[in-house]
Amino acid sequence: MTRKVLVLGEARDGALRNVSFEAVAAAKTVAEGGEVIGVLLGESVSALGSMLIQYGADRVVVVEDEKLKQYTSDGYAQALLAVIEKEQPEGLVLGHTALGKDISPRIAAKLSSGLISDATAVEVAGGNVVFTRPIYSGKAFERKIVTDGLIFATVRPNNIAPLEKDASRTGEVASLSVEIKDLRTIIKEVVRKATEGVDLSEAKVVVSGGRGVKSVEGFKPLKELADVLGGAVGASRGACDADYCDYSVQIGQTGKVVTPDLYIACGISGAIQHLAGMSNSKVIVAINKDPEANIFKVADYGIVGDLFEVVPMLTEEFKKL
Ligand code: FAD
Repeated sequence: MTRKVLVLGEARDGALRNVSFEAVAAAKTVAEGGEVIGVLLGESVSALGSMLIQYGADRVVVVEDEKLKQYTSDGYAQALLAVIEKEQPEGLVLGHTALGKDISPRIAAKLSSGLISDATAVEVAGGNVVFTRPIYSGKAFERKIVTDGLIFATVRPNNIAPLEKDASRTGEVASLSVEIKDLRTIIKEVVRKATEGVDLSEAKVVVSGGRGVKSVEGFKPLKELADVLGGAVGASRGACDADYCDYSVQIGQTGKVVTPDLYIACGISGAIQHLAGMSNSKVIVAINKDPEANIFKVADYGIVGDLFEVVPMLTEEFKKL
């Protein structure tokens, strides 16, 4: 059965986030040969429409309004609901990002629809579109199908491979005029925390530090390793609680969930709440001086040793590659 599927593209700093292309790939599977329509919301985002098409969308609907310049739940929901009202899709896919997590339950409630959140895979099997999603903090996976109504899902970043970019693909990028009204929240100013380097939630390599790193200074060798590998630095809550780094890089049950190709855990014991945020990484390397540390149970490669000796050695070796 072919379906019409909407997919929300997420723009940041004038570019689309990678998860948008991953969501397009998921939407293609849901569409089963039907039409995939990208949706872009913002103040001035239509120029990004062609990128969604090059990654597999058939056409793009854009809602532009100065009130959509900054994300607000009710502003974006009004715009997205207007597109849904016009297009009457059978499927809807968003990234499981801060934005996706915020807006998707609101949209599902407004549409009286179900929602499969945080999917890590989607396939067509036995005549159904089947989503896989982690449960119990990543200790098990469930497979879910939608038996009735809209197939609505959010997809976890870094799990579903985007389609290959095809610069020759073209399609319509059309505007839809929507009156955004009665906003309950108006964002006057966004003050950005100074962050540098690769976005943690989309990084292919994460070098993460725990209480074993012992100080702010102790994170420097981790940053050097992350830089050499083109990755980002993360942390356990133990390290954040100890003020070695900011909570914005905390990984785990109450922090970010990451699924990079390579996760290097340095001086992290491997508490269940930490594993909830990283155990689905493709390859896990643990460096810990305690051979009994729990982190070794989930690690593909374990190095028993002092991180302050091992991490600089790794950095030097990777520099040679
Ligand atoms: P520790 O458990 O103290 O481990 C430090 C490790 O470093 C030890 O294994 C030690 O052997 C090793 N080490 C020390 N020195 C060195 C060295 N020089 N070289 C190599 N290894 C060394 N935690 C999270 O991470 N994320 C969460 O989202 C999270 N959410 C939570 C939610 C709740 C409700 C609760 C109750 C807890 C949560 N926690 C979370 C906390 C979690 O339970 C652990 O306390 C925390 O993960 C421990 O951090 P850690 O591994 O850095 O520290």
